[in-house]
Amino acid sequence: MGVNQPLGSGVTVTSLDMLVNWVRKSSLWPMTFGLACCAIEMMATGASSHDLDRFGIIFRASPRQSDCIIIAGTVTKKMLPVIKTVYEQMPEPKWVIAMGACACSGGVFDTYSVVQGVDEALPVDVYIPGCPPRPEALLYGIIKLQDKIMGEANSFGSAFGLGERVATV
Ligand code: SF4
Repeated sequence: MGVNQPLGSGVTVTSLDMLVNWVRKSSLWPMTFGLACCAIEMMATGASSHDLDRFGIIFRASPRQSDCIIIAGTVTKKMLPVIKTVYEQMPEPKWVIAMGACACSGGVFDTYSVVQGVDEALPVDVYIPGCPPRPEALLYGIIKLQDKIMGEANSFGSAFGLGERVATV
């Protein structure tokens, strides 16, 4: 859980980078961006039976307050510029989840009007297959994203001269 050297008696030692990553992954705020049927499963994941809030994951309606975007549904070529604009309005650091076959690869819609995968425009961090993926699959994808965030380098430690170790109790 973000600490790497337990010392016993409730004292642990970790790096500032790891602590920052732990905070980031424990408070993901996804931008709501439902595009088609997959969005219903995304909404179900946030409802009481699956309860995304228990992971610190709270949907936001503004890109200014979001650090993650879940592309849930079919990405049409008309919608792509809007998706790009919303993504650009999100502050760094930010992450992208492609939810469902349509967002990952166009799904069954191999047509002139559908983008064949949102990674043509956005840097996707996690792909979740399925048509649609169940809430459990989205939860698993978010957990994989959290694992990825924990492995990311950031500049906080060196910026504050605390790249080595800080203690938490
Ligand atoms: Fe709908 Fe399937 Fe496409 Fe999801 S992957 S948006 S369920 S058609």
